[in-house]
Amino acid sequence: MESKITTEQIQNFTGKYPKQLWYLFFSEMWERFCFYGMRGMLVVFMVSQLSMKDEVANLQYGATQAWVYAFTFIGGLFADKILGFRKSLFWGGMLMILGSVILAVDPKNFFFIGISFTIVGTGFFKPNISSMVGQLYKDNDPRRDAGFSLFYAGVNLGALIGGYICIAVANGNLWASLVPEALRWNYAFGFAAIVMVISLLTFTQTQKSLGEIGLSPLLGLENSKRKLYEVLTYIGSLAIIPIIIMMVANTVYTDYFMMIIGPASVVYLFYEMRNFSSSENKKLLAALVFIIFSIFFWAFFEQSGGSLSLFAANNLHNTVLGVELDPNGVNNSANSLFVIIFAALVGMVWLAMAKKKIEPNTVVKFGLGFLFLAGGFWVFYYTKFFASPDGRTSLDLFTFGWFIITFGELCLSPIGMSAMTKLSPQKTQAVIMGMWFLASA
Ligand code: GLN
Repeated sequence: MESKITTEQIQNFTGKYPKQLWYLFFSEMWERFCFYGMRGMLVVFMVSQLSMKDEVANLQYGATQAWVYAFTFIGGLFADKILGFRKSLFWGGMLMILGSVILAVDPKNFFFIGISFTIVGTGFFKPNISSMVGQLYKDNDPRRDAGFSLFYAGVNLGALIGGYICIAVANGNLWASLVPEALRWNYAFGFAAIVMVISLLTFTQTQKSLGEIGLSPLLGLENSKRKLYEVLTYIGSLAIIPIIIMMVANTVYTDYFMMIIGPASVVYLFYEMRNFSSSENKKLLAALVFIIFSIFFWAFFEQSGGSLSLFAANNLHNTVLGVELDPNGVNNSANSLFVIIFAALVGMVWLAMAKKKIEPNTVVKFGLGFLFLAGGFWVFYYTKFFASPDGRTSLDLFTFGWFIITFGELCLSPIGMSAMTKLSPQKTQAVIMGMWFLASA
């Protein structure tokens, strides 16, 4: 008989990182490759291929991002209650593949359908893989934050390469001789689909090593009943797609929905709290405070796809340290590159400080996150003193601003995910992780 790995055995790993973390690292890296590849293509595609005006495309892009992150809450909820992390992740990955394939087949006519599949799929995938990372650690394991820092490097490695390659294929700057001009967008979306298949295969081939982590919460239930709930979840998530298509196409409805889902998620959390002890509830309230603060962080940070990209395109020179580069390309990717370079270092600093028992707690790390964010934006502001008469200013300085913000992100984002897994009782982990991402919506 096959012997099952217990969660305790996994959590008793020696060394810096458990091997399961590396498996999740690679699944997430490929998923982010697909996601950021798509994200990078959306606005350009809408403007150049669907003949949308800039501002309409921008609004619709905003709506897709809001939905992606709103759905992480819903994906988390269904993982906690019915599917478990693993099945959620599998289902989410399948929907993301389907979304990319639809876009690869006919991006012009099926654009909103493809995007909506991707939105729902990401909701099932993204929060649940992060929650599984948390479960690799015992409650008080000091290596948890460092683990999340490494995982976050995977996120950004995928984001950096995917964001660059997909748009380069679509623009004909990569493999131009292999890709027929009329089919460039099809190929670029198709490429995202292939990468998502790799992500899912990485997960399915390694998931045995997770032992009991991420299994269905309904295992105690009769088989047929559990199956029924699962199938209903799958059907429900497909049935919602036409509504999402309509909401993304009409961004006002998205606005209304976002105003409802935030408060509704808080009400839901309070409703859940009746099941937990008062010490658990105190922790949940702490998680909620972190989530609410993170809204402000992401509101500024996510300007990268909005106001900062316009600033980069219109007001920046095109050289970094003497090398000629596209300023908006730098705006899009400098941050991911810095995360990759410095995530492990920051993780090591936390570990070293933990060894000396001087590691700052989560509140202090969050505070540092905001200080770095403010410092970075101050550098952005300061670029105005270097402007030439044509209204363009230093891309070097602007890149330095992203360098500073990256340290803020490293103090807040992986640490926040780690805190969510620490502060929530097992039964509500994915919902809390979903709420963490909902802050970005
Ligand atoms: N860049 C990170 C990711 O893609 C964080 C995104 C967010 O929470 N807004 O996972």
